Amino acid sequence: MKILVSRSLWLGLGLVPLSLWAALPPLGASELSQTLQQLEDDRPPQQVFRTQVAALAEQRDGYPAEAQGRIARLQCWAQPAERDEDFRRAVRFADEALKWARARKDRVSESGLLACRGYHQQLLGNMEAAGQDYDEALTLARRLGDERQRADILSLRGEMYSYQGELAEGLMELMDAHRRYEALGLEGKGREVLAKIANAYRRMGLYERAQNYFQELEHDYRVEGDEEHLVDIHTQQGLLYVETGDYERALPLMAEAELYYLGQQQEGMLAWTRIEMATVLLNQGKTEQAMTKLEQASALLHQQGKGADSVTRGHWYIVMAQALDVMGKPTEALRYLDQAEPIFTKEQNLRFLAWVHEVRAKVLERQGRIKEALVSLKQYVQIKQDLEKMLREQRSLQMRFEFDLARKELENQTLRAGQQLQAEKLKQLQERRHWQYLVVALLVLVMGILVIHQRSRTRKMHRLAMTDELTGIHNRRQIQAKGRKWFSQAREGGSPLSVLLLDIDHFKKVNDRLGHHVGDLVLTAVAQCIEEQLRSLDRVGRNGGEEFLVLLPDTRLDEAAEVAERIRLQVSRLRIEGVQADHPIHVSIGCAEYNPKDDNLGELVRRADEAMYQAKLGGRNRVVKVA
Ligand code: GH3
Ligand code: MG
Ligand code: MG
Repeated sequence: MKILVSRSLWLGLGLVPLSLWAALPPLGASELSQTLQQLEDDRPPQQVFRTQVAALAEQRDGYPAEAQGRIARLQCWAQPAERDEDFRRAVRFADEALKWARARKDRVSESGLLACRGYHQQLLGNMEAAGQDYDEALTLARRLGDERQRADILSLRGEMYSYQGELAEGLMELMDAHRRYEALGLEGKGREVLAKIANAYRRMGLYERAQNYFQELEHDYRVEGDEEHLVDIHTQQGLLYVETGDYERALPLMAEAELYYLGQQQEGMLAWTRIEMATVLLNQGKTEQAMTKLEQASALLHQQGKGADSVTRGHWYIVMAQALDVMGKPTEALRYLDQAEPIFTKEQNLRFLAWVHEVRAKVLERQGRIKEALVSLKQYVQIKQDLEKMLREQRSLQMRFEFDLARKELENQTLRAGQQLQAEKLKQLQERRHWQYLVVALLVLVMGILVIHQRSRTRKMHRLAMTDELTGIHNRRQIQAKGRKWFSQAREGGSPLSVLLLDIDHFKKVNDRLGHHVGDLVLTAVAQCIEEQLRSLDRVGRNGGEEFLVLLPDTRLDEAAEVAERIRLQVSRLRIEGVQADHPIHVSIGCAEYNPKDDNLGELVRRADEAMYQAKLGGRNRVVKVA
C-alpha cells in the first residue's frame, strides 16, 4: 500500500516512475553528480527522496566508486524509519555499507555512514552507541577537512545532546552546525538546525526564545510552500504550548499535523501526533475524545506483524495510563506504566521516567495504596529534582557559553575595527604617497621643461651673440675670436693660414640711390655668395659695415688669391632684387698669408687690409695679395 502511494505521488510530481528508471541506462557523469548534489543538499519530501534514492541504487554498481559511496550514504538515510524494526534494519544496512566503504578506504563514505548509523542507534535508544558513531564520524570528517559532513554530524550530535538534556552542549554544537551551513550557503540545512536550536530552547524552558525562532521558520516555510517542514515546526510549537499549558493553541496545530501525516502515510509520526492530542484532550477534561485518539494511535502502534517505535509506544503507555486512571481503571493503568518504565530507563530519558512515577503515584494513591504511592512520589520528586538541578546547571552553562560567545564576538569586533582602522590609515598613507609621487613627478617634469627651455634659450643667446643679425654669418667678435685661435694654432703647428679682407665697392652709393633697405639686401646677398665659395672648414664673418673677413686654414697665399678671385667673380655676377643690371655690385679683396713675423691676428689682417686698399686704389673690383 505504501509503495503504491509513493509511486502515484511520484507520477503526480511528473517524475519518471521507478520501474522506468530502473530500465534506463545509468546517468551520465554530470547528470549523476547533479542528482546526487540535489539529494544531498535540498532533500525533497521523504516519499520523493526515498523513491529517487531507490532508483539511483538500482544502477549503483555501474557508477564510479565515489558515486557508489554517495549513493550508499543516501540509501542509509532513505531507509524507512517509523519503528524499531526499521531502525534496526537501517543499522544493519549501515554495518554492511561500512564494511564495503572501509574495504575501499573510502573515508568520506565511512564518515557519512557512521553518522547515519549513529542516528538510527539513537532512535533505538542506544545512546552510547550513537554517541560513539557520531564521535568517530566527526573525527574522520575533521581529518578529511569535509566541512559539509562536519556540519551534518554536529547537527545530529547536537540534537542528541539536547534530547538527552545536555542542553548547553547541544546548543553549542547546533549553533556551530548552523554557522557552518551558513558559510557553505546551505540555507535549507541551516533552517533545519534552527528548528533544533529552537527545540533546545524549549527544553530549556526559554519559551520566548524558542517561539521567536519557530515564528521565523514558520514564516520562511510558509513563503516557500514547504508543507513538510511547516508541519514539523507546528508540531514543535504545539509541544511548547502543551508544556506551557496553552492547550487551546496546541490542539489545532496537532490536528493539522494529524491530517498531514495521515495523507503522507507516516504512521509513526501520526501515532505520535495522536498521543500528543490525547494528552491535550485529557488535560482539557475531554476524556472520551482523548481515548479515541489513543485507540487510533494504538491501531497504528500495535499492527499485526509490525513492531513499533519503542519510545512512541512508551509514550502511549503513559498517556493511556493517565486516561485509564481518570476512567477509574487503575489496575490497567498500572500495567501500562510498568511497560513504559523500562523503555525510558534504557533510554535514560529522565523526563519521561519522572512522568511515569508521577502518574503511578497518583494511581496508587487513588487505589489507597498510600505507602507504594509514597515510594513512587519520592522517586518522582527525586528525578524531578535531578532534572531541575541539571536544567539549572545547563542554563548557567549556556549562559556562560553565551557570555563567552558574546565576549568573543566583541573581541572580534574590536579586532575587526582595529584592522579596519589600520587599513584605512594605510590607504590614506598610500593615497598621500601617491599624491607625493605625482607632485614630485610634476616638479621633475616642469623642471625638465624649464631646463630644456633654458638650454635652448642659452643656445639661442649664444648663437645670437656669435652671429650677425642681418646676414646670419659670424659677427666681428666671433670671426676675430676664431681668427685668433687659428692664428696661434698656425704659429704653434706651423700649418699655413690665409685671410681675405673684402669690402663692397661704393656701397654708400647703393644706400644713397636705392635706399638702406636695398643696401641690407646687398649685404646679405654678398655674405651668402662668399659662404657658397668656401670649403666647410673656412669661415667668414662680418668684420664691420660692408667689410667681411674670411679665414682660410691650411691655405697658402696663392690658393687664397684663387678663392678671392672666385668670390670676386661670383659677387660681380649677383642679381639682387632692386639693383639694376647697369649698377653691378662688386668687391675689392686683399689677401695675406700668416707670416711668422706677424705678432698677432691684427697684424695679419692689417696686411690684408693694406692689400685691399691697394685693390681700391687699383680701380676696385679686384684682388690684391701681399706676401
Ligand atoms: P669704397 O668703395 O671706398 O669702400 O666706398 P664706400 O662708399 O663703400 O665706402 P664708405 O666707407 O664711405 O661707405 C660705407 C657705407 O656703408 C657707409 C654706411 O652708411 C654703409 N653701411 C655700413 N653698414 C651698413 C649696413 O648695415 N646697412 C646699410 N644699408 N649700409 C651700411
Ligand atoms: Mg668700407
Ligand atoms: Mg666700401
